[in-house]
Amino acid sequence: VEWTPEKGWYDARVTPYAPLSIDPATAVLHYAQEIFEGMKAYRHEDGSVWTFRPEENAARMVRSARRLALPELPVGDFVASVDALVRADERWVPEPAGEKSLYVRPFMFASEVFLGVRPSQHVTYLVIASPAGAYFSKGPQPVSIWLSEDYTRAGRGGMGAAKTGGNYASSLVAQQEAIAEGCDQVAFLDAAEGKYVEELGGMNLYFVQDDGTIVTPATSGTILEGITRSSIIELCGKLGHRVVERPFTVDEWRDGVASGSITEVFACGTAAVVTPVGTLKWRGGSVGEGDQTGPVTQQVRTALVDIQYGRAEDTFGWMHRVV
Ligand code: PMP
Repeated sequence: VEWTPEKGWYDARVTPYAPLSIDPATAVLHYAQEIFEGMKAYRHEDGSVWTFRPEENAARMVRSARRLALPELPVGDFVASVDALVRADERWVPEPAGEKSLYVRPFMFASEVFLGVRPSQHVTYLVIASPAGAYFSKGPQPVSIWLSEDYTRAGRGGMGAAKTGGNYASSLVAQQEAIAEGCDQVAFLDAAEGKYVEELGGMNLYFVQDDGTIVTPATSGTILEGITRSSIIELCGKLGHRVVERPFTVDEWRDGVASGSITEVFACGTAAVVTPVGTLKWRGGSVGEGDQTGPVTQQVRTALVDIQYGRAEDTFGWMHRVV
């Protein structure tokens, strides 16, 4: 789908997957004016195909568009675009065994051929998809986390709440450091004080305390408001857990795991679903060597995945039927 100020959105079509031909002076290549979403289509045992809360992805893309001075794609058009792609050849949606799914990537970018720095007057929106298995090679085994103390992901007034490539570009060097340190993922702290836990490179965080409370870092405009994150807040309520959204310091994480007052840590996101966090490592130390999935992590994960794959009743009305 294309957009210009004069025409609005036009030329919606589904075409075979193929490379794009891009002029070297296309705005996005220089100024990173682009946004995207990540979601999945799940096949149920009866063969039907569903997406999970697509209106939430659509709404987040509208918020991202506002931040990046891109045009808003109406929620209905976003959902219809994902439906159209999945329906174009639904054989790409894998069987539910092994928690496989079709990962869907809608994205929008500045496609005007113009080197001046201003919002692009031509925008292109595309949706692509690919079958996906488990996010981590180790499956739902605990992941190890490297604490990034040199790099932050987003500051106040920045783009942290938008799903835009620039945020990921700024996280790559920290992710590289994490791998060099033998860790799977990187954890970011707030830019202002370097004290509060924000999120991982592609996941939100949850901490289970021994008093039964579950804490997740509050959203303050600098972290991505994960759709899995907000779903888990609702799900935990139904499962009888108390969830608190508040600023959470890295010292609470370190000390809590060391003293046992934090009994489980898990991360969540569309790709990673719900993944237990084992070790937290930083320059000079580490805590937690768990190699098991804790009971709360397991319970939340199963409750969520069972809704997504149609094995449990969707009392929240989260699932959207595509095929
Ligand atoms: N934080 C970041 C930085 C992410 O990239 C993602 C993945 N989209 C998440 C959190 C989790 O968001 P969601 O649950 O919507 O996938």
